Amino acid sequence: MIKEQIDIDILKERMATKVSDVWRVGGWQLTSGGVFSAYSAEAFLVVGSPNVLIDCGSHLTYDELLRNLSVIGVRPEDIGLVLATHSHGDHIGAAAKLKEVYGIPFAIHPGDAGEAEQGFHDALSPAVFTPPVAVDSLIHDGQEFQVGDRTFSIYHLPGHSPGSVCIGTQSVDGPRLMFVGDVVHGIFSAKAIEERGESIFELMLKWADGLERVRNLDFDYMFEGHVFPFMENLSLMDEDEQHNFVGRLLSEMDSRRKGAENGKELIDTRIFLLRQGFLHLPDYYISEDCLTAGK
Ligand SMILES: [Zn+2]
Repeated sequence: MIKEQIDIDILKERMATKVSDVWRVGGWQLTSGGVFSAYSAEAFLVVGSPNVLIDCGSHLTYDELLRNLSVIGVRPEDIGLVLATHSHGDHIGAAAKLKEVYGIPFAIHPGDAGEAEQGFHDALSPAVFTPPVAVDSLIHDGQEFQVGDRTFSIYHLPGHSPGSVCIGTQSVDGPRLMFVGDVVHGIFSAKAIEERGESIFELMLKWADGLERVRNLDFDYMFEGHVFPFMENLSLMDEDEQHNFVGRLLSEMDSRRKGAENGKELIDTRIFLLRQGFLHLPDYYISEDCLTAGK
């Protein structure tokens, strides 16, 4: 009983963000899997009447999503919409079941709606089959719409996927919020793009243009779909240096998950890399071993 209470307190602390009306309900340390697992995408609950989910995680973490919601006292019946940043399974896999069991409608951009409705398995995104989900409404670039008394703004930003969007809204605390899905960390498969018959170079420039537009919008906190760290080469460090480095890195990542205050700088870095022709982040991501060492 006591242990359970402690676990719930820890979970609740992990779920809190920098604003009182947004909770992390899926992602790092909240749903199964490590930083790079297919189950690790961040899912956010925007509090209101009704509540809105921005992404909902994989179907494989559906039960954990429900548990997390119950930790903050939110009933799935009180969620009015799942708003998708894009169609990848680690972000929307649970949407089919949320709709089937609780009747929660699902909204996505037309560029990704086909994939969402068919269900799909994209070798890179990450390798999880996405159960098909019927799309109830399409969201478009420049659209503003109300859910209850809250306004959401949609910015179409293809690149990570054809129908990726950023979603803006304002916190009841005042700050303006931007949910960017995966368009800032931006990893994708060049091969998948080739298969879709798009020119990679043109796509990268379009992607950078879209990021520039979002970067120039007025927002205070940026919420990412994953927080992937850039890594120094750990093998060049001695054990103490590694330990310190990983510790600092983890606390920065944690702060970003709760709403990055340096979101515009992070977007600038991504724009720079895209314009230089870099599709992927460096290969030396943090490993599970490093994470353990940092604890
Ligand atoms: Zn993705």
